[in-house]
Amino acid sequence: MNHKIALLLVEDEPHIAQALVFNLEEEGYQVTHVESGEQALEKLSNTPYSLIILDLALPGIDGLEVCDHLRKQGNQIPILMLTARGTAQDRITGLTTGADDYLAKPFNLKEFLLRVAGLLRRANWQPIHSDNILYTFGSNQINLETDQATTANGTFQLTELEMKMLRFFFDQEGIVLSRGKLLKQVWGMSPETETRTLDNFIVRLRKYFETNPAKPRHFRTVRGRGYRFVQNPE
Ligand code: CA
Repeated sequence: MNHKIALLLVEDEPHIAQALVFNLEEEGYQVTHVESGEQALEKLSNTPYSLIILDLALPGIDGLEVCDHLRKQGNQIPILMLTARGTAQDRITGLTTGADDYLAKPFNLKEFLLRVAGLLRRANWQPIHSDNILYTFGSNQINLETDQATTANGTFQLTELEMKMLRFFFDQEGIVLSRGKLLKQVWGMSPETETRTLDNFIVRLRKYFETNPAKPRHFRTVRGRGYRFVQNPE
């Protein structure tokens, strides 16, 4: 393997970590090992990994919090959760928080390696959670795979251009986007192009998704600067 798959291992027990690192490296993976949730989040903020192996019980921020934090950020990296507490409730909590798979300690190393390989394989061809493809704001839900919107007014199909615009807003959530930038990103036009096209488009999105289109809470106008999408208005 020329290009090694990079994995992040978050485990505070040295002997377990050592054994996992050894075996993963034997399999040809490149492993970064950290001992706390804080270190994990720091690593993840500046390095891309293909998978996280995350111990549940950690000092400081625990595995569930790390998971929850990543998912709330929209980070869809596959997560294999490790725990000593193999109860059904823990399993449910872990999976609800956004872990993709779960392994209770003590586990068989062979099974562990199979789970890792399985998660990496699945991540390559489909979203692991059906939740991953749903984007929710207010009472609206957008299916990013089928381009369907479900709102207070029912379910309907969005056009390609509407989806392009929504994806851009979702990616840049909370950030003020100038009209020029939106036109360029969504229509691929030069910023000199008719901005009324864009303004009409925003009117349409507000009609679809705002409870009161005259007082938008999600698709906001920022006077003199452009538009800003807010997922969860206060
Ligand atoms: Ca631990």
